[in-house]
Amino acid sequence: MQTNFLVIGSGISGLNFALHAAKKGKVILATKKKLIDSNTNYAQGGIAAVLDKTDNFKKHVADTMKCGAYHNNKKAVEFMIKNSAEAIYRLIELGVEFEKEDGTLKLTQEGGHNKRRIAYVGDNTGKEIERVLVKRIKEHPNIEILENTFAIDLIKKGKICYGCQFIRRNKIENIFADQTILATGGIGQLFTYTTNPKIATGDGIAIGIRAGLKVKDLEFIQFHPTALAKKLSPMFLISETVRGEGAKVINNKGNRFMKNDLASRDLVAREIYRESKNGQVYLDISNKTQSYLVKRFPQIYEKLKQCGFEMEKDRIPVTPAAHYISGGIVTDLYGQSKIKNLFAFGEVTCTGVHGANRLASNSLLEALVFSNQISEKLKHQKIPKKIPVKLPTITKTSSKPFKKEIQQVMWKYAGIIRNNKLIKKEGIPKLIRIQKELAKIKGTNQDLAEARNMAQVGTKILSSASKRKHSLGCHFVE
Ligand SMILES: Cc1cc2nc3c(=O)[nH]c(=O)nc-3n(C[C@H](O)[C@H](O)[C@H](O)COP(=O)(O)OP(=O)(O)OC[C@H]3O[C@@H](n4cnc5c(N)ncnc54)[C@H](O)[C@@H]3O)c2cc1C
Repeated sequence: MQTNFLVIGSGISGLNFALHAAKKGKVILATKKKLIDSNTNYAQGGIAAVLDKTDNFKKHVADTMKCGAYHNNKKAVEFMIKNSAEAIYRLIELGVEFEKEDGTLKLTQEGGHNKRRIAYVGDNTGKEIERVLVKRIKEHPNIEILENTFAIDLIKKGKICYGCQFIRRNKIENIFADQTILATGGIGQLFTYTTNPKIATGDGIAIGIRAGLKVKDLEFIQFHPTALAKKLSPMFLISETVRGEGAKVINNKGNRFMKNDLASRDLVAREIYRESKNGQVYLDISNKTQSYLVKRFPQIYEKLKQCGFEMEKDRIPVTPAAHYISGGIVTDLYGQSKIKNLFAFGEVTCTGVHGANRLASNSLLEALVFSNQISEKLKHQKIPKKIPVKLPTITKTSSKPFKKEIQQVMWKYAGIIRNNKLIKKEGIPKLIRIQKELAKIKGTNQDLAEARNMAQVGTKILSSASKRKHSLGCHFVE
């Protein structure tokens, strides 16, 4: 197959870019499961933007930089926030129905923001965005959708990308393109406890590493402080907006133990992690009525009810879980990577906007603003006759025990509190051994390829973490 644009991934960044690109040429949108299978579909809280008269560009920049421990790329932060309101209006134009009151957008607040500046749709903002973008994609005559199509590696010669190799219908297929776009999302599944769905195995970052791309800031992994403490996969998130609307964090004696329940996520996650050693930690929002909670948090209310908790009465047991990676493939403001005709958008990238810690609700914003950029001139590229493309064989071997072990290693050594010596002495050697064992298995399939990607990205995360001797942002060293 051959196309103008080959977009890999169907979260907010892939879908949004595909809609822009379809105005200029033919698009193939390939994604490893169904279209809606993405982190985007799980986003609850909303999208941050400068939308209120009492807010301004400088304040949003200041909050983003402070949360990122000033490790951010200020130029990228300014670029994102300057374009934030426009990005929200684009979504509204496409059909996303953000909450409104008397015709103006209702805004909520999350940790680290000094203003109410988050546009939202109940407590399932991501689902609504995904629904609207998927609808638009399906309607578009220039977009061909390939579901259950798993990207393995880029097709490249020297520093030029010519497309990507996939596993599709149990066969290897090459898709050639003028421009290839990685929009493959995050890495939460590298950890035992995560809010990310099964698709988040770090494939895009691994593909980038193998292609020789620069990756950066991988050690900055954000742990969300308040996942529901129940064995669910993925773990169910209790959005920060619940605290934004008045929930308090309490210990098993019913006492508050934090100065600020809405401090940035890394601080709250560490406090809860430490306090959990003395007993279960809870969220308490019993100061609100049932009718308010059902209306404001319909999804969370319903899920908690299914799990046996009534928000207006019961304390809700919570625990931290791996949630978001701030680092990734280095790109410029246009999503361009160091390889010609290869672009990347969304959580797979490191644009520098998040620095050492992502400010809540800035990630959907980043994915959207950056994927709104598309270079004016589309250049068709001739595919050279001889590109060395390997054709791996498909095997039925399963990787299950390896995936579980990788998750345990990552939770132990790259978790909320880290120890540099142990990472070097135990964590990295364990993952290198797993990588070697996986390499010995002949052939490939999606499950094996994911496990190999997880081990490769995990090793890189541990190695970046081991080099950062001091705590910074969400990298906390014992
Ligand atoms: C529970 C939860 C709540 C969140 N809440 C918020 C919030 O309120 N506000 C906010 O700003 N952010 C939030 N986030 C983070 C935000 O949702 C993500 O950062 C964002 O959606 C990432 O978008 P994306 O397009 O980069 O990737 P994703 O939405 O993850 O999409 C990646 C796509 O790539 C596909 N893919 C992956 N690997 C391959 C492969 N090898 N081959 C083919 N396809 C592949 C996947 O199937 C998927 O379709 C939340 C995240 C979670 C998990």
